[in-house]
Amino acid sequence: MRLLLLNLFFSLTVFGQNPQTKTFIETLCSPSFHGRGYVNNGDSIAANYIAKSFQEIGLLPLTESYFQEFSFPVQTFPGACELKMDGESLIPGVHFLVAPNSGPSCALSDCQFGKSYRVVTCNAEKLYASTASFYPCPENVILAVRSFGLSPDSLKVIKTRIRELSSFAPVLEITKDKFTWSVSQTANAYPFVQVQDSVFMRRKDGTINLHIETRFLKQHQARNVIGYIPARKHAKKKPYLFLTAHYDHLGRMGQANYFPGANDNASGNGMLYSIAQKLVKQPLEKYNVVFVAFAGEEAGLLGSKYYVEHPVFPLKNMRFLLNLDIMGSGEDGITCVNSTLFKKEFDRLLQLNEEVNYLPIIKPRGPAANSDHYFFTEAGVPAFFIYTMGPNKNYHDVFDTYEALSFDKFDEIEQLLLEFIRGF
Ligand SMILES: [Zn+2]
Repeated sequence: MRLLLLNLFFSLTVFGQNPQTKTFIETLCSPSFHGRGYVNNGDSIAANYIAKSFQEIGLLPLTESYFQEFSFPVQTFPGACELKMDGESLIPGVHFLVAPNSGPSCALSDCQFGKSYRVVTCNAEKLYASTASFYPCPENVILAVRSFGLSPDSLKVIKTRIRELSSFAPVLEITKDKFTWSVSQTANAYPFVQVQDSVFMRRKDGTINLHIETRFLKQHQARNVIGYIPARKHAKKKPYLFLTAHYDHLGRMGQANYFPGANDNASGNGMLYSIAQKLVKQPLEKYNVVFVAFAGEEAGLLGSKYYVEHPVFPLKNMRFLLNLDIMGSGEDGITCVNSTLFKKEFDRLLQLNEEVNYLPIIKPRGPAANSDHYFFTEAGVPAFFIYTMGPNKNYHDVFDTYEALSFDKFDEIEQLLLEFIRGF
């Protein structure tokens, strides 16, 4: 009976997805944030917006500002990103994908309309043995390679060969896989493009036209955004709880399209923002709570790595870190990475969930280097990485939009995490 009443109570008073949080998430996904990547400084625009939002809800800056700056190299696609077959432009992100480390189609000075390539399909057996017979690649030829219909072992070899080819020749990888984009800290000299087999098969002409403009940023300036809520009394002497979520995403693949990164990870920032609003009104007795929106995660966990190497507060004063990523679709519950390392905390999380039945499943998972908790764990800081499980499979693609978020179990996860935090 008590549980029933409690459920009713929460459904009436706590749940109902805060409209302010939804607006915050939607804003991070909007075209003017450019996919929070490296074209048009989308990541910087997002950092400013998050810092402003932190300030508005009453989080304090740790130092004189909310930012921790660092830099890294990154390949970008700030201009044209076009692939034409039979004179028709294909749809970027849907029909074709430019590899994150792709070089340009031609030198900027002579590339107003892109460049035509004669398509030469590589013999799979020859390629499996070695790339030697394809070297050197004749001028104006692009090497096409099929990466499907192979056993897992052969596929691994062919994928390696494709990478090798792309270091000395333009490459067209023909695939049937779902497109999954990423970020590269290195840049090839030649164009490297993936195309869907269903589209490539329709081609009548023996040539394709590529127009890819790239710009390699040797020292892209990025910023972690950090705000905190001091403990109620004697904050300077109190240890720290951290809540973190990366705000960067993949940015733009050319000016014509962008990767909104709604589930990954505007949703996690929304969760941070929502929890911060609740904790600001009722700070913890024994802990300072620090909120960090990390930059550079998609480029290789760079923001969190930088923080661990340059901690604003000693790592030994960190009691626990909760890293949140992919919070927008919790129909099937959550997974908790590091649950096997921090058994006591995980049992407490399970117990809290059982009391009120927030989520159908909290799936345990061992350590994994798959998000910003990783370098903290390596440095001895206890941490969980939590992500939702649900039907939304839009991951690192142009379909990961705000509109596709269900927000299922969003409020329940928030409530569970708040109780978990207040239990320290
Ligand atoms: Zn992510």
